[in-house]
Amino acid sequence: MARVYNFAAGPAVLPEEVLKEAAEEMLDYRGCGMSVMEMSHRSKMFEEILNNAEADIRELMNIPDHYKVLFMQGGASTQFAMIPMNLMKNRVADYILTGQWSKKAYQEAQKFGKINAVASSADKTFSYIPDCSDLPISPDADYVYICQNNTIYGTKYHRLPDTKGKTLVADVSSCFLSEPVDVSKYGIIYGGAQKNIGPAGVVVAIIREDLITEDVLPGTPAMLTYKTHADAKSLYNTPPCYGIYICGKVFQWLKKMGGLEVMKERNEKKAALLYDFLDHSHLFKGTVVPEDRSLMNVPFVTGSEEMDAAFVKAAKEAGLENLKGHRTVGGMRASIYNAMPYEGVEKLVAFMKEFEAKHA
Ligand SMILES: *Cc1c(COP(=O)(O)O)cnc(C)c1O
Repeated sequence: MARVYNFAAGPAVLPEEVLKEAAEEMLDYRGCGMSVMEMSHRSKMFEEILNNAEADIRELMNIPDHYKVLFMQGGASTQFAMIPMNLMKNRVADYILTGQWSKKAYQEAQKFGKINAVASSADKTFSYIPDCSDLPISPDADYVYICQNNTIYGTKYHRLPDTKGKTLVADVSSCFLSEPVDVSKYGIIYGGAQKNIGPAGVVVAIIREDLITEDVLPGTPAMLTYKTHADAKSLYNTPPCYGIYICGKVFQWLKKMGGLEVMKERNEKKAALLYDFLDHSHLFKGTVVPEDRSLMNVPFVTGSEEMDAAFVKAAKEAGLENLKGHRTVGGMRASIYNAMPYEGVEKLVAFMKEFEAKHA
């Protein structure tokens, strides 16, 4: 068995320990004689898995009691519709456009109301986060929407926008659990699991209780109503059981590592190693303004498409996989999520130095 260093943006690297444990429990989960994949979602065993997962993420993120934690399915993209359908009372919302994922959310929301783009970084290919200290927030906006870490462009809000008292909704798919956050600053924090938490399909949403009501847009299906899932404690229908089980194991791993303060330190150290190299390289260049750089997704280019392709190919041969940039932007991108060890980034930087010496 040879594992590679997987720099994919998502689905992405998971802690090896978690995968090993899951493998050990695959045929017989803790003496019950069956796999988690085979057990009833109403069984005591699964109920415990779900309850522990919720308790652990609550502890990790220090989630206040007046927030619900919902495990749902349909990935982050289903939330693009669920958010307006559940939160729109005035049918007005303000979106900040910082890349493809916020743009997709913005386009989906337009089906349900008047959606204002109150700021955008499209003018410079989303290579920065716009100034959000004094936005033209709509007086009747039901919420303000951001994508907090932009997986494709590699930017991140290091300071949250001033929403002028409006509810903040954030897609944190690609920075979930990468550092401590103050949950009380948000109405909804949500993310797809496949970047930093677990397998694709699962979405975790942390929602302030007053936002979970029956007062949703007419025609909203039961499955797309937060209250359905909140009332049923994420067991309205069969949830993505196996995915939730893996998420739970990742939460356990994070606790064992020392929690989110420790993850933040580790992530900063990893990112600094790579950014520092990029800032001094004669061949490679980061594409994001330094003050808005993501700790999780690091895009870079050589300036030549052929050189980029040659690099990606050579890196793959050296066991450094999935470094090709998103199909819409080209170049390279190294995603260095929680589960990417420091040694993985060291190997990458050493390889880049070697490649540069050969080609610069
Ligand atoms: C990957 C990603 C999504 C889409 O997730 P799906 O689970 O595929 O719907 C949405 N937002 C962000 C920030 C992402 O990185």
